[in-house]
Amino acid sequence: MVTVILFVYGSCLGSLIVALACRYAQQASYWSPASHCDSCQRPLRYWQLIPILSYLLLRGRCHFCHVPIPFTVLLVEIIGGLVATTISDNFSLRVTLWLILWGFAALCDSRTLTFPGWVTWATAGLALVGQPPVSWGIGLGLLFLIHRLWPHWHSPTIGDGDLEMLVSAGLLWGVTVTAQWLIIACLLAISRARTTDRLPFLPYLTTAATGHWLITVILTSAW
Ligand SMILES: [Zn+2]
Repeated sequence: MVTVILFVYGSCLGSLIVALACRYAQQASYWSPASHCDSCQRPLRYWQLIPILSYLLLRGRCHFCHVPIPFTVLLVEIIGGLVATTISDNFSLRVTLWLILWGFAALCDSRTLTFPGWVTWATAGLALVGQPPVSWGIGLGLLFLIHRLWPHWHSPTIGDGDLEMLVSAGLLWGVTVTAQWLIIACLLAISRARTTDRLPFLPYLTTAATGHWLITVILTSAW
């Protein structure tokens, strides 16, 4: 029963981050207007706001204008639910919140190649809770350096946001675990890269980190 409740909460958070990322990309207010179709702008009814179920009931299309709803919406709601079911202690709670916040940043990055800067500091706080002062010093020092130096680098090979996520992950999981899913993220990105245009890398990093976390929890039977 607890697992079902956690899944529902997680899928709601998944739904929320998709909606917020859409508004970030449109430079619209996070708070108003109420949830609506991005195509016809009609406000959604209560039964069109239920994560996962609404998508299935609507068969992936807007009830009013029949424009397809991106499949990403359903995918993020399901993954959000699955990640939340891994919550069993303080660490897994922090990992879940960390992944959801970076999931939000990845959705923003996929649309605009940017994301709100507060995500970096909020997730660093989640990663550093309970750690010794030296870790706080090193972690925040590295993030501050990236934040200050990257704008002066004309053509960096990796974005500052991507690097901030990796530093944050290193603080949360350690370097070894981060290196494991970083390889997967790179392979995913290489397999999808078709042009020389700048690639939003955060979606691949977040996908690989989330997959690694879910598989680790399943394998250690902590689910
Ligand atoms: Zn519509």
